[in-house]
Amino acid sequence: MKQIETLQKKALSKYIGNSLINNLQKTNTTLTKSYKNSFFCNSFLYFQEGKCKSVYCKNRWCLNCSRVKSALIINQFEKWFQINEGSLYMVTLTLPNCERENLRYQVRKMNSFFRYWQESNRKKGGLKFPFFRKLEVTFNNRLKNYHPHFHVIIESQEGSQDLYKKWLQYFPGSKEVAQDIRVGYSMKELAKYSTKIFTKDKKTDKRKFIDFEALNHIYESVRGTRIFQTGGFTKEEKLKYFSENLEMDEEKIFDKLKSEYYDLDGAFFWRGYDWISEDGEMASGFVPKEGFKQIIESI
Ligand SMILES: [Zn+2]
Repeated sequence: MKQIETLQKKALSKYIGNSLINNLQKTNTTLTKSYKNSFFCNSFLYFQEGKCKSVYCKNRWCLNCSRVKSALIINQFEKWFQINEGSLYMVTLTLPNCERENLRYQVRKMNSFFRYWQESNRKKGGLKFPFFRKLEVTFNNRLKNYHPHFHVIIESQEGSQDLYKKWLQYFPGSKEVAQDIRVGYSMKELAKYSTKIFTKDKKTDKRKFIDFEALNHIYESVRGTRIFQTGGFTKEEKLKYFSENLEMDEEKIFDKLKSEYYDLDGAFFWRGYDWISEDGEMASGFVPKEGFKQIIESI
């Protein structure tokens, strides 16, 4: 039963994901080849000893890969969360929205902040605050501009205050009121897809996909930059919390996602919204709801 639920979730990601890729490909993009590659992600399933296997494209925009990556990240940090429950803080660091042509520069400058922050604490006697941060970029459809921001989970109140203070110093244009610190954390929030892909149409109150030119621009702008980063863990802490030496490099996370090629005999192949075997058997039984189908197919 559980496997069917998992497969149906997988089918839903693939269904939305293919439509997303299809539309991203139609934009004025420099990523055509990489987008194309994502069509083949999870395009067949192979069942071996009760386990479902497939190949992964490992691209950032891929919904299939993002789901698996989220699970791997949550798994990696579980022990840190459990042991420090109660002393973890979630900080949101923002800047005023930027225009299209400045997005790449803005993202780079934001990433350089973390180097500066860690370095400045190191100089001040080695203060270390373990953290996990994620870059998110959203598009404001009304203002037609971009909102790159960080969500950070950080240990200790002192750490959260220090991070917040230094951010305001590093970016004199940032507004105090736009930052946020709260006790606790939401890993689900942090591990999810790094940009919003659906918006609500104000007139009809219906969900719709975001502007694909804008989404493509986000992916072009974050190309080669880090979405996830960790820091501040001592050697002992790394050993204590993480099963392997902690590396929060996207490539390394994805290394765990083995893409093996199998003999395709007996495999199920993606056909629209489910994987079907040569004999016509459906792997998941997923059928998109009519309303949802309309959203996906209306583009
Ligand atoms: Zn993929």
